[in-house]
Amino acid sequence: MTQRETICALASAPGRAGVAVIRISGPGAGDALRQLCGPPPPPRQASLRKIKSPGTGEVLDRGLALWLPGPASFTGEDIAELHIHGGRAVVGRVIDALTSLRGVRLAEPGEFARRAFENGRIDLTEVEGLADLVAAETEAQARQAIAQAEGGARALYESWREELVKAHALAEAGLDFADEADVAADAAVQADAAVAKLLTAISMHLKDRGGERLRDGFRVVIAGPPNVGKSSLLNALARRDAAIVSEEAGTTRDVIEVHLDLRGLPVIVTDTAGIRAAQGAVEAEGIRRTLARVEDADLVLWMVDATAPEESSAPIQASSEPMRVLNKIDLVHSAPNAGLSAPLSAIRLSAKTGEGVSELVDILSKHAEEGLAVGEPAVITRARHRAELEAAAQALRRFRGERGGPEIKAEELRIAARHLGRLTGRIDVEEVLGAIFSEFCIGK
Ligand code: GDP
Repeated sequence: MTQRETICALASAPGRAGVAVIRISGPGAGDALRQLCGPPPPPRQASLRKIKSPGTGEVLDRGLALWLPGPASFTGEDIAELHIHGGRAVVGRVIDALTSLRGVRLAEPGEFARRAFENGRIDLTEVEGLADLVAAETEAQARQAIAQAEGGARALYESWREELVKAHALAEAGLDFADEADVAADAAVQADAAVAKLLTAISMHLKDRGGERLRDGFRVVIAGPPNVGKSSLLNALARRDAAIVSEEAGTTRDVIEVHLDLRGLPVIVTDTAGIRAAQGAVEAEGIRRTLARVEDADLVLWMVDATAPEESSAPIQASSEPMRVLNKIDLVHSAPNAGLSAPLSAIRLSAKTGEGVSELVDILSKHAEEGLAVGEPAVITRARHRAELEAAAQALRRFRGERGGPEIKAEELRIAARHLGRLTGRIDVEEVLGAIFSEFCIGK
C-alpha cells in the first residue's frame, strides 16, 4: 500500500464554542502532534499543552492533546486530537499550522469514516448508522442509529451471508458429484431447505417498514378543502414544545412541514394546498403535489370546517383510511346544532383556541408508535438496504423456481450473496461508497 496522506479537520461544529476538537489521522499524525505541542502523551491520556506554530514558535492556544495510535483507533490509523478553544480564529490558525506540515492536508467530507471502513474497522451499515446518529432529531431515532452503528444490522446480514455461502457450497457439491445421484440429490435437498429458510427470514424483514419510517419520520399530511384551517393547525403544532424547527432541504414552498418530537418519536406534519376544482395552473400544480404527498403519507388527516361540514367522503387516494378532523369547533359551541351531520368518529378541535389540539397530538403519537419500529434490534433503515435485500430475495426465488439447470441455479446463489455482501460492503462496493460517505460533514 502506498503511504497515505495525513488528514486533519475540525470535528466539532463550526462557529463559536467553548471547545473545538481537531482530529488528525494518518501516518503523520504523531509527527504533527510533536511539531505543534511536543512529544505525544501516553496513548489515550489527555495532556495539557501549549500549541505553537511550527514555523514561528508563536503560541496559538493552550489545550488538550490526545494520542490514539493505530490500529486500535476509529480510523485504524494513528490519530491525534487537539481540544482547543472554539473560536473561529483559533481553529483557523491551528488548522493552518497543521496543513502547512508536509503530507498533511484538510480532510474531505466523510473521509475519517471512509478510512475506518477501508481499514475494516466498521462496515457500511455501521457507517450509515453513524451518519444517522449525527442527524438524529429524536430519542428513538438516536437509539436506532446507535444500534446500527454498533453493528446490529451487520451481525444479521453477515449471518445471512454465511448461511448463503453454506447453501452455495452444497449446491456446488451437487454439481461436483453429479454422477453420484444419491449424493447430488441429498446436497440439492439440503441446499433448497437452507435457501427456503433464508428466503422466509429476508421476506419477513422486508415486510417491516418501521425502521425506514423511524429514520425518515412518520409522515402525517393535513388535507382538505381550502379555508378549513389546515395552516392554522400546522401553526398551532409548530408553536408547541414538541416542534423541531428544521430546515429540510427539498421542502417546497407550497408544502410546509413541521417536525414534531412526540414522546421521542419523529412525526412530520405537512400542510398542503386546499383541494378543490383548480382555478388556475399554479393551483392545479399545488393540488397535484398535495395528492402526491397524500399517497406517500403514513396517516392523512382530512380536515373539514365544523360550521360547514361537507358530506362527501375525502376525495383522495391514501394508503389507509383518512382520519377526519372537524376544525373551528369554537364557532359551533354557540350554535350547538351545527356540525352534527359530521361523523361522530371525527376528532374535534379548534386550531384557533387550541382546544382539542393536545388530544390530536396524543392520537398522532399513538399512531406513530404503532407505525415505527421502536426498539427492534435490526431493521431496514434505508432504501439502499431494501434494494439489495429485494435483489437477493429475487435471486433466491429464482433458485427455488422451476427454471434453469443446476449451474444457473448455483449462479443465483452467487448473485444473492453478492447483494448481501454489498449491504455490509464486503465486496463490490466502489460505486455505492461515494453516495454514502458524501452524507458526512468534514471531520467525521
Ligand atoms: P387553510 O386554507 O385550510 O390552510 O385555512 P387557514 O388556516 O388559512 O384558515 C382559514 C381561516 O379560518 C382563517 O381566517 C383562520 O383564522 C380561520 N380559522 C382557522 N382555524 C380556526 C378555528 O379553529 N376557529 C375559528 N374560529 N377560525 C379558524
